[in-house]
Amino acid sequence: AKEAGRNTYRFYTEEMNSHALHRIRLEEELRYAIEHKEFILFYQPKLDLTSNDIHSVEALIRWQHRTKGLIPPIEFIPFAEETGLINEIGEQILDIACKQLQQWQQKSSPVEKIALNISSCQLDKPEQFFSGLEDRLNRYGLRRDQIKLEITEHLLMGKDDNVIAQLHHQRQSGLSVAIDDFGTGYSSLSYLQVFPLDELKIDQSFIRNLSENSKNKTLVQAIITMGHALNMSVIAEGVENQEQMDFLIDNGCDQAQGYLLSKPLPAEALDNWLADNFC
Ligand code: C2E
Ligand code: CA
Ligand code: CA
Ligand code: CA
Repeated sequence: AKEAGRNTYRFYTEEMNSHALHRIRLEEELRYAIEHKEFILFYQPKLDLTSNDIHSVEALIRWQHRTKGLIPPIEFIPFAEETGLINEIGEQILDIACKQLQQWQQKSSPVEKIALNISSCQLDKPEQFFSGLEDRLNRYGLRRDQIKLEITEHLLMGKDDNVIAQLHHQRQSGLSVAIDDFGTGYSSLSYLQVFPLDELKIDQSFIRNLSENSKNKTLVQAIITMGHALNMSVIAEGVENQEQMDFLIDNGCDQAQGYLLSKPLPAEALDNWLADNFC
């Protein structure tokens, strides 16, 4: 193996070689992680700005690595998407999320709904994806309206009519769909009419500079108005201070999510937080 390793240095630059090695290692590590179920979910509450209640959370993946500790999604999700490993990871996440929702249901937690982040390739075979979802809902005694899919504009752009038809069908039976990172894509807005969407999630980059940047204020107001005009609920992510929160409330935003309220937490920590703050 050492010999082969040396030989490759003749053909590739050292940098390219170490990059390739990194990818090979990461792929092995990810396969190991899938096999040993090393992925966990943290949950971040979504505050309903009308009722001041929390009924739903967003599930955010972390990799509980046996030696490296908690690894954030940015370090492995893009690679998992490239290699297609995201499909298996996605199935595990779905199972964890549904099991957790069942537990919350059994202890009468205020959390009734989970939003899941979905990568584009997970919807390449929509029938398979939705039948997997159906299985989990049945297994854990859940309804479709307890699940929200967070998808990006980018994901929608590449999809054919079949995916759109399936999403329509799923929505008719209760599933909801949010458009994530809204405002960061490059496409026209016409997809908002075409695609079946329930929720528009304003990207955190607009929220971050809200106070210093009056253009962002105008944009956020316009996005809220537009979302409502299209019958969508509007949520802001990345809300970190009270000033941002007040602006969103004053401008009729429906929900808010961010560190001001809570960071993403493991289920048990979220339960404690809810008990301390909302009961
Ligand atoms: P996203 O879906 O846009 O998630 C929002 C990110 O912002 C999360 O980072 C969250 O922890 C972080 N965040 C929440 N509130 C605040 C805040 O007030 N301030 C700041 N600065 N950040 C905040 P995270 O958990 O590292 O996730 C990063 C991205 O990884 C997600 O972006 C999503 O695209 C992806 N991801 C996470 N979980 C999954 C998953 O289960 N499946 C897939 N396919 N992608 C996932
Ligand atoms: Ca999201
Ligand atoms: Ca987002
Ligand atoms: Ca994002």
